[in-house]
Amino acid sequence: MAEIEREAMDYDVVIVGAGPAGLSAAIRLKQLDADLNVVVLEKGSEVGAHILSGAVLDTSGLDRLMPDWKEKGAPIKTEVKEDNFYMLGAEGSIRIPNFAMPPLMNNHGKYIVSMANVTRWMAEQAEAMGVEIFPGMACSELVYGENGEVVGVVAGEFGKEADGSMGPNYEPGMELRGKYVFLSEGVRGSLSKEVMAKYNLSKGQCSQKFGLGMKEIWEIDPAKHREGTVTHTMGWPLGSNAGGGSFIYHIENNQVYVGFVVHLNYANPYLFPYMEFQRFKHHPMVAELLKGGKRVAYGARAISEGGWQSIPQTAFPGGCLLGCSAGLVNVPRIKGNHNAMHSGIEAAEAAHAAIKAGRGGDTLTEYDVALKSGPVGKDLKRVRNVKPLWSKYGLLTSLAVGGFDMWTNNLFGLSLLGTLRHGKSDAAATEEASKHKPIDYPKPDGKLSFDRLTNVSFSMTNHEESQPCHLKLKDPSIPISVNLPIFAEPAQRYCPAGVYEVIEEEGKDPRFVINFQNCVHCKTCDIKDPSQNINWTTPQGGDGPNYPNM
Ligand SMILES: Cc1cc2nc3c(=O)[nH]c(=O)nc-3n(C[C@H](O)[C@H](O)[C@H](O)COP(=O)(O)OP(=O)(O)OC[C@H]3O[C@@H](n4cnc5c(N)ncnc54)[C@H](O)[C@@H]3O)c2cc1C
Ligand code: SF4
Repeated sequence: MAEIEREAMDYDVVIVGAGPAGLSAAIRLKQLDADLNVVVLEKGSEVGAHILSGAVLDTSGLDRLMPDWKEKGAPIKTEVKEDNFYMLGAEGSIRIPNFAMPPLMNNHGKYIVSMANVTRWMAEQAEAMGVEIFPGMACSELVYGENGEVVGVVAGEFGKEADGSMGPNYEPGMELRGKYVFLSEGVRGSLSKEVMAKYNLSKGQCSQKFGLGMKEIWEIDPAKHREGTVTHTMGWPLGSNAGGGSFIYHIENNQVYVGFVVHLNYANPYLFPYMEFQRFKHHPMVAELLKGGKRVAYGARAISEGGWQSIPQTAFPGGCLLGCSAGLVNVPRIKGNHNAMHSGIEAAEAAHAAIKAGRGGDTLTEYDVALKSGPVGKDLKRVRNVKPLWSKYGLLTSLAVGGFDMWTNNLFGLSLLGTLRHGKSDAAATEEASKHKPIDYPKPDGKLSFDRLTNVSFSMTNHEESQPCHLKLKDPSIPISVNLPIFAEPAQRYCPAGVYEVIEEEGKDPRFVINFQNCVHCKTCDIKDPSQNINWTTPQGGDGPNYPNM
């Protein structure tokens, strides 16, 4: 194929992804020097369209970025007034008293927010400062310089046919070049994955760990709504099948954010994370809350869980990894937005100083140092043993030992356990189906629980059908020849949008079907496929979910 010619535009800093990390970096760069040329590229149809978070926001990052966020009208209004933590059994529940919880898990004084709305507001602030923000622009490729350094990205390629050829409306997109390129794509970013492999950034670190988070927004009976209440649960229905838990956040307007996270290191390939979430809503405590209400939105997104031990080298020649592209979530607190913002600030400060000194295209080692020794490193280091304990010993032991470890870290700044390592990657943790029994899930009732396709329609997901499938199989034969006989092809179950199907018809060979139009960009397939055969790539810009206030 002839080499594609593209127009190029030069910037000081090119930022991939308009999440809290990328937008914080853009704002800080402009605060430091209003003359810097900064561009932010976002694959969602608008800023916020692909943002899914809980979210209880620790405002420490935003306080540092824009101390006057309240006066500036940030959509951060619902202060947490009540904070509950329950262990669930099938019928009942036990409340863990707040005094027994390590202080760092306290949510009082934090805010229940829609991060989609927060990023929309941050984008307005950034644009007012002169940042160029282009939504609907998927960054599909990295551009490398003569010495192998990243010098830019390709964004905005449209109009390819399903077979990959250039259709009649083909547009090659543009090369956006920067002295530094910030990858703030969130968890399991596709370009971030490429640079991590190219520069071996995870050398010596534990493999990254992940969870799958699913979320519904409900409008409930005002009599049951308690604005500012935060509830977390563990235990039922996952039991010993997998780690994870739920969140229920009462935000304004009688809305409740109901979410469920399943750790992706589960062994049983018959586990069906989406159905665990649906079953959870039938617990008497949850069913009573939702009864008479209606679900108004649905979505899903992976969450990084490896923490301190899994942070890669975050600086590479020509750029940096920010936010969840570097895996900066504090797992026991289920919070990553504050660290995403801190990382954006650190990256901006490092790049600004370097550009002022006439540098560009080199490795911003000072960013990596600042990130790991500053607020982000401190936040993650003190909880570093919680996830490995949970993975190794299960929920109860990890609650006891992990809780003790967090207390000693909180009080004395030290851990008696040192730094525990994570086990296998989540893909490798999947065991053969022959070692497990299928799990029988109750059918959704259409009132509290819903089938996947009905729920996906509440994510407003759309993909132009004539484009190439963005879920690339390295070897198309593997789903049927390896994954089906050995692992009962778990893609049928782990995908929260029902994208993957195995069609078995009498007298015919089984077929693997990919309904890529339904993909909500959660990245779970890229993470959990036991053969590591699925590569998530960007579809055309603007395609994917259109989340309202996730
Ligand atoms: C279910 C769930 C609950 C959570 N709850 C909380 C909570 O209560 N509190 C909290 O603090 N944190 C929570 N988190 C974690 C938090 O959401 C993340 O830490 C945070 O979103 C990370 O911010 P980010 O900017 O790195 O990435 P993201 O917020 O994921 O933003 C990345 C952006 O980049 C865009 N993008 C990606 N790739 C490309 C590309 N190649 N080209 C163009 N654009 C691209 C995406 O569309 C997206 O808009 C939760 C996460 C989940 C999944
Ligand atoms: S296809 Fe992959 S990325 Fe898309 S929704 Fe399913 S698991 Fe998530």
